[in-house]
Amino acid sequence: FSYPMPVNEPVYSYGPGTAERAALTKTLAELKGQLADIPMYIGKEEVRTGKLQPIFPPHEIAHKLGHFHAGDESHVRQAIDAALAAKESWANMTWESRANIFLRAADLIATKYRYHMNGTTMLGQSKNAFQAEIDSACELIDFLRFNVHFLSEIYKQQPISGPGMHNRTEWRPLEGFVLAITPFNFTAIGGNLPTSAAMCGNVVVWKPSNSQIYSAQMFMRILKEAGLPDGVINLIYVDGPTIGNVCFNHPDFAGVHFTGSTGVFNQMWETIGKNVANYKSYPRIVGETGGKDFVIAHNSADPAVVATALLRGAFEYQGQKCSAASRAYIPASMADKVRSLLAEGIDSFKMGIVDEFGNFINAVIDEKSFDKITKHIEEAKNGEGVKIIAGGNFDKSKGYFIQPTVIETTDPMYVTMCKELFGPVLTMFVYDDNDFEKALELVDKTSPYALTGAIIANDRKAVELASYKLRNAAGNFYINDKPTGAVVGQQPFGGARASGTNDKAGSMINLYRWLSARTVKETF
Ligand code: GLU
Repeated sequence: FSYPMPVNEPVYSYGPGTAERAALTKTLAELKGQLADIPMYIGKEEVRTGKLQPIFPPHEIAHKLGHFHAGDESHVRQAIDAALAAKESWANMTWESRANIFLRAADLIATKYRYHMNGTTMLGQSKNAFQAEIDSACELIDFLRFNVHFLSEIYKQQPISGPGMHNRTEWRPLEGFVLAITPFNFTAIGGNLPTSAAMCGNVVVWKPSNSQIYSAQMFMRILKEAGLPDGVINLIYVDGPTIGNVCFNHPDFAGVHFTGSTGVFNQMWETIGKNVANYKSYPRIVGETGGKDFVIAHNSADPAVVATALLRGAFEYQGQKCSAASRAYIPASMADKVRSLLAEGIDSFKMGIVDEFGNFINAVIDEKSFDKITKHIEEAKNGEGVKIIAGGNFDKSKGYFIQPTVIETTDPMYVTMCKELFGPVLTMFVYDDNDFEKALELVDKTSPYALTGAIIANDRKAVELASYKLRNAAGNFYINDKPTGAVVGQQPFGGARASGTNDKAGSMINLYRWLSARTVKETF
């Protein structure tokens, strides 16, 4: 059965006076008026341990939205058992039945639960309506629909046969279970990592970030309503080291689908390596990790285009995208203009809670993150050769609010040029217009990461040179645009070097990793 290429889910604007804004406002009020009691989902059970952990909006920390039931080692084991018990019937289900569960889930989000997916994402992760819409509605729907299409294209690929023989490829799932570990910053990634593996016929243990549980459980309920059989995806809330300890020591561990920090990914890889002789097969290790994403402007660029790429690329969702621009290289001839455009832009940003629709900037995810980011802002206020040229204020009395901040440094290796902060901080280095090529070399060498980056230039030769010199510096490279906002089916997303295994999310490359093909030759 073939599933044609879908079209991207249209983005709602939530403009003033629209029915969509009214509906979303109503859902937000309903969610805020309830106390959610969130269980783990293991097999057919909703597991309530009574070990309650609160959920509150990062922008309104006094408001409790509910709590989740935390689990322990025994729940990891139960989740693996439930997954393995579901494995055979799931792997043997017809492809169209399996695919249609995910297509139905996509339709349920599009038509019935859009405001709930967006509402839980807005409140739980402090995303404004637009950022939630492009994530927990459109991108999540797109992941489900495009992956069904891509997988059906993979299934079609068959070897040649000849007289007296028939050859076929059976696109089998992996033997064992897959562990999905997902981050707080994209509800769509939370949805994609378990479902892309499951779609291929695998069974999954899913551990979301604690800061994404509010929207993750909403998606889990939608999958159940769409008909996902019990045990195919098991959602548990257990700390990472405990999960790793159980899963990476299990003989049926078949792979991990991860988005998170480079440090954690490296540790996982090491543990898996140490245990490699104990597994039935070599596990698949697929990860998207950190980034220190760049924007380099050439002096042929329009400064307004540069500033927009920086303001949107660095500060949307408070800079908490792996793809966010966090280091800028600006030619001296353009620096004053860019400085003033950035300062004007930041002054115009409204910051506040998500239920008021005009707020472009909301809170960062938690106190730990707030403290880490603001420490670097404080240091830059007093450092040598470094200054704050825009923003710089912060306050955590009501929520974890940090004003978008631009640091300018004369040292291209200054700590915030190199280290991933995962917050609304952009660091800018001004280079001599004649040193464009040297600046490109600097961009390439400054960071071990290679996730996203952008060149802004009107001179085609500059574009060509940047494109070549930075060929290994970014898995997603943007010409005359911000480095964020990849759309499924349009810009397959992922990076290399310390940014991950570059198995582009929402593409065939990714899906192949969850398949273990069997070649069958029959002679007549
Ligand atoms: N795909 C997202 C983007 O292009 C970033 C994903 C991430 O933060 O991991 O902005």
